[in-house]
Amino acid sequence: MRKLVSGLFLLLSPWVGSAAAMAAPDDRAALWWSHVQILASDAYEGRGTGKPGYDKAADYVIGQLRALGLQPAGTDGYRQSVAFVEQVILADGSSARLVGPQGATPLSVPGDIIFSGSGGPVPEALDAPLVFAGYGLHLPEAGHDDFAGLDLKGKIVVVLSGGPSSISGALKSHARSERAGWLAKRGALGLIQLVTPRQVEIPWGRRTALSSQPALFFKDAALRDAATPFLTAQFDPAKSALLFAGSGHDFAQIAAAADQSAPVPSFALAQRLDARVATRRAELSSPNIIAVMPGTDRHLKKDYVVLSAHLDGYGIGTPIDGDAIYNGAIDNASGVASLLEIARALRQGKVKPKRSILFAFVTAEEKGLLGSTYFARRPTVPRKAMVADLNFDMALPIFPLTSVTPIGYDQSSLGQDAAAVSAQMNLPITPDPFPDRNVFIRSDQYSFIRRASPRCSSNMASRRTRRRRRWRRPGVPTSTIRRRTMRTSR
Ligand SMILES: [Zn+2]
Repeated sequence: MRKLVSGLFLLLSPWVGSAAAMAAPDDRAALWWSHVQILASDAYEGRGTGKPGYDKAADYVIGQLRALGLQPAGTDGYRQSVAFVEQVILADGSSARLVGPQGATPLSVPGDIIFSGSGGPVPEALDAPLVFAGYGLHLPEAGHDDFAGLDLKGKIVVVLSGGPSSISGALKSHARSERAGWLAKRGALGLIQLVTPRQVEIPWGRRTALSSQPALFFKDAALRDAATPFLTAQFDPAKSALLFAGSGHDFAQIAAAADQSAPVPSFALAQRLDARVATRRAELSSPNIIAVMPGTDRHLKKDYVVLSAHLDGYGIGTPIDGDAIYNGAIDNASGVASLLEIARALRQGKVKPKRSILFAFVTAEEKGLLGSTYFARRPTVPRKAMVADLNFDMALPIFPLTSVTPIGYDQSSLGQDAAAVSAQMNLPITPDPFPDRNVFIRSDQYSFIRRASPRCSSNMASRRTRRRRRWRRPGVPTSTIRRRTMRTSR
């Protein structure tokens, strides 16, 4: 078991403070910490989706919700079961090579290229021409389209990290997230994602080590991004020049331009990718846990404010110092504990919310936001009645809370509320220092943003929190999603 991070419960005071003052702050911290300690203990085996440790964690959460008197709002009591297919890419039986006018270049799998098992079923074999599409951003509403004029049908599309600095990080992240589904609809067969050597965030060696991990996708094909088998891959940043051989373009030059956010061209590459992908598949299911606390206002109670946190973790994986359990105390027992203690505060406090509060403990976040996607697509309350989502992922109460970093803050009507609360608490708002790291789309708030079901959505804790950064609150991209104003009556 890894060391749990100790600290005080600080994050939620703006939400809890006005509603509840039933326990001294130290007691509230202790209650919160007790959930973290239990859920992150070895007995819960890191709460891997579909694994016994997750089911045990689900039982724990349901026990807490029942004790708090919250109503079940799943499809089977508190549970909303989600059916998945687990897909593992097998190194044995997989192969790839680049074929061009100069001959064939064999690639090691995984090594030079990593195939992704997420999204949907991977094609068993693929032999298709490559086309380079710059940053791979289709954002005509922002005056930018790397795919303009390219023939995508029957092609494998190669794209590069980064993008123009004139476009917000949130909007770029959104375009990247929609990309595979968008390309598949236009007849493309696959997508290879390149990262410039200077923009590497996760070392390539670690990526290849993780490439044998099982991926999940929805059993129900209607819920997948691509309706047909689609290959998604990543390429070793140190070897990306191989893809550009014979194209008349130099990868190093293109990468240097991308590092400056300068314009990058789109063009057909001189080579094809010839790949064979061996997989192992199995079906499994895992529940979201959903509870509701009805609002007190006759009219407003039909609105739901969703509070979400993912209950799953990485489960059991590659041992580190002999320990194979990825306990996930911070990511995200901390967020689950936050929701449970908010529920307690709202139940026991004097002020009762006028709107209904829906608590969503979702599964398979680490597998690609799948549990929250499922809930946002198949909600157990009317979709239009969900007026906001506040997501809690990775509360890190290990530094003094001195400022707030709202992600997508300028694109959501929740930004105004964040500003008002921050001002009241004397916590300055600071901009996201790494707008290209896709944080906007990297937790469950994004599932609600994609469906545009809530009028506002935000994430209350950062996946990459550092000193002086405490919360991240993504919002709705204005250009893609209807902008509505959240009514502010309590
Ligand atoms: Zn997380």
